[in-house]
Amino acid sequence: MSTRLLPAPSVSADQNLKQKALQVHERLCAAYDCPIGYFHDLDPLSELVSSLLSHRTKNADSGRAFRQLRERYPTWEAVCEAETAEIQTLIAPCTWPEQKAPRLQAILRQIRSERGELALDFLEHLPVAEARAWLERLPGVGPKTSAAVLSFSRLRKVALPVDSHHHRVVQRLGLIPMNVSVGPSHVLLAAQLPPEWDAQQVYDNHEVLMLHGQRVCHFRGPECPRCVLLDLCPTGSRSLQPVP
Ligand code: SF4
Repeated sequence: MSTRLLPAPSVSADQNLKQKALQVHERLCAAYDCPIGYFHDLDPLSELVSSLLSHRTKNADSGRAFRQLRERYPTWEAVCEAETAEIQTLIAPCTWPEQKAPRLQAILRQIRSERGELALDFLEHLPVAEARAWLERLPGVGPKTSAAVLSFSRLRKVALPVDSHHHRVVQRLGLIPMNVSVGPSHVLLAAQLPPEWDAQQVYDNHEVLMLHGQRVCHFRGPECPRCVLLDLCPTGSRSLQPVP
């Protein structure tokens, strides 16, 4: 769904959401001990491959697929030239390897053709919005992946990815409407964060919301009574009201 269809929030509603987003961040940072260490130190092209493999896949499984690919083909050039069927076998721990293998090769070939090399280090010198727009022209690359490449790679840029855990928690908290899907939520949630925040703070925001979704605000059976956000959360408050 397009965010353009949503009514524009009033100025005070907008301010209230920003204050609430900040309160949520501070409480979760206290609970999960910010700053959170970066889990990757990959170059941006490797981070792009890792992000593509991780789509709808558990981290342990996409990590195994990435390692298998790197062990068999130590360069991205070699991945480009490999038999697609073999790439598919190597990344089989992921969901939809039959789709991801040809897409991965198509993306690598497009980058090589446009840039003359297989590297994305040039993104370091672009403004974040421009770098994200460049990445999102690639097939299958949306706002989550573009933000992940810029934030999680060694570029360490200010960009907020939103995964399914993060998205579920902010919906239940009322930071975004329930009918806003993951893609359009990126721009709304980034706008709620203080503009002066650095890359670590924005990364922490994503990480703590993701961790909270994994550990407390589960897809099924959120543990509202022990949640540090309960008094801020309309979903949690409703769920604890006595049934008449
Ligand atoms: S109160 Fe419940 S629904 Fe709300 S964020 Fe916490 S665990 Fe999730």
